[in-house]
Amino acid sequence: MARYQKAPLADGKRGTALLQNYPSVKCVKDNTVHFVDGTSLPYDDGLAKDFDHALQQPDMEDHFRQAYPAFAPIEPPALNFDPGRFRNDALLKKLYGGSQEEIEANLVEVNWLPVNEGKKLLFNKRENAAAQLQKVSDELDKLPSQYLKYVKNIDGTYQYRPIQGTSRLSPHSYGIAIDLDNQYSIYWLWDKEYRYVNQIPRAVVEIFERHGFVWGGRWYHYDTMHFEYRPEMFERVL
Ligand SMILES: [Zn+2]
Repeated sequence: MARYQKAPLADGKRGTALLQNYPSVKCVKDNTVHFVDGTSLPYDDGLAKDFDHALQQPDMEDHFRQAYPAFAPIEPPALNFDPGRFRNDALLKKLYGGSQEEIEANLVEVNWLPVNEGKKLLFNKRENAAAQLQKVSDELDKLPSQYLKYVKNIDGTYQYRPIQGTSRLSPHSYGIAIDLDNQYSIYWLWDKEYRYVNQIPRAVVEIFERHGFVWGGRWYHYDTMHFEYRPEMFERVL
């Protein structure tokens, strides 16, 4: 199963990142992403977008408009630095299910922290997402006990809902995101004033990152309980 290092920066590698990390992607050529089921989607819509436009209507190219700083020291992100927050809905529907019913048919149970607690979490089995979350859990389970409080009482995984304040589907709707315990977390929308004060230990963050999950604590629009399976944001090493 895949492990990851820093995000690829070279333009030429980005289509390759989709191809390498999502088994449903068959090939990427001539600005088109072809899927193993015979369908295809455009890669680049050709539009020049500012930050808000890219956030509202990202194409697949916009996934890579900011390089995710995997394994970097944790520090307050720069203004509007939100790598991984740009999500092409057509791609996610193709990968994980085109409707609530289809997505729910793809959910499987992940055995979360069986050594320490043992609870079942629903996650999407497509594209290795659930298998990678199981690997995260297996590593978290081996951490010293002082880390347990952050990951034991998780806030949730699958929930079919829009992103708060928008009509776009949350990544939780696809069963590819997990929120840790919200009492150790900050979320920009809940804060009256901007404040970035992270409590999530770097050891926890790096375990998720090693298995292809981006962290909302690396975003200017911070959401430090939030981890999301986005392997195309990493460079694969194994
Ligand atoms: Zn979340």
